[in-house]
Amino acid sequence: MQKLNEFQLIQRYFADRKKQRRRDVKAGIGDDCAIVSVPPKHLLAVSIDTLIAGVHFPLETTPADIGHKALAVNLSDLAAQGATPAWVTLALTLPAADKKWLRDFTKHFFALAEKFNVELIGGDTTRGHLSIAVQAHGFIPQQKILSRNGARTGDLIYVTNTLGDAGFALHCLQNKIRIRDKKIFQRLNRPMPRVHEGIALREIVNSMIDISDGLLADLGHILSASQKGAVINIDKIPLSPVLLKEKAALHFALSSGDDYELCFTVARNKKLQLEKLLKQQGIKATCIGEVTAQKKLIVQDSEGRLFKPGKKGYLHF
Ligand code: ADP
Ligand code: MG
Repeated sequence: MQKLNEFQLIQRYFADRKKQRRRDVKAGIGDDCAIVSVPPKHLLAVSIDTLIAGVHFPLETTPADIGHKALAVNLSDLAAQGATPAWVTLALTLPAADKKWLRDFTKHFFALAEKFNVELIGGDTTRGHLSIAVQAHGFIPQQKILSRNGARTGDLIYVTNTLGDAGFALHCLQNKIRIRDKKIFQRLNRPMPRVHEGIALREIVNSMIDISDGLLADLGHILSASQKGAVINIDKIPLSPVLLKEKAALHFALSSGDDYELCFTVARNKKLQLEKLLKQQGIKATCIGEVTAQKKLIVQDSEGRLFKPGKKGYLHF
């Protein structure tokens, strides 16, 4: 088989993608810089995440899963800020120009990009230990800036969908535990960024974050930025049917990462408005507690009995 050089590789796997053209991209792959135009009265939202083999995903993860997840985690950051995704750049470090790996990686990367009308507009390709950095760009209306410090005393705290499935799936993989229901592995390997949810919710929330390091850790970021505390009711934490059967379900739901659901706070007097919006938009979200003035995160059950969670989510250092 003929070996690919860097430029042939870029051309074959990344540049030749006529389908994903956006009209706001004035120059894309092939020029020294990408040139894009932000719509009038909007601001640019930018986020970057790196995935390193053996750190952010197990070494045996398939290129299809890596291609999906590398983009998904970045779109999730845009979602948390209520941004509409538009463009991405990709810095790819590969041990070798493996054609099958590249085919599978790009197939799933671009499938997700297409789903959210995102165009790959540039990047960098180097040789070394496998690592994938994606920078995502999106936009938000000028007056819709969200921030982690927006939580107010009395705000209700919500999370989308269910929590803990991805962490439980990782635990099963690491400990060779066989699970009949394969859906949880989808939750780990093919997380769906909550882009539409984020855009709909930006109209109404006081603060929002995506759960990448575990609920307690990420809600903790909102609370410390906002100088608030919270009371969480463990009986309200939404769990999938698979997790409901697990003894350690709450540990995964509270402390394990990789769920990429949204956690947000809303003023109590907007509860009805929020519920209407959730229904209209077909968004599943559950109220799990409320923001308090006292700077402490209290986790308890419906009877007020304190729950002692284990470790506080994933720390890189
Ligand atoms: P330069 O040397 O000018 O930085 P490169 O040779 O690194 O350019 O890349 C050539 C073109 O291909 C640039 O437009 C760059 O953005 C794009 N590119 C390189 N690698 C990738 C990649 N992995 N994905 C998308 N675009 C890429
Ligand atoms: Mg250049």
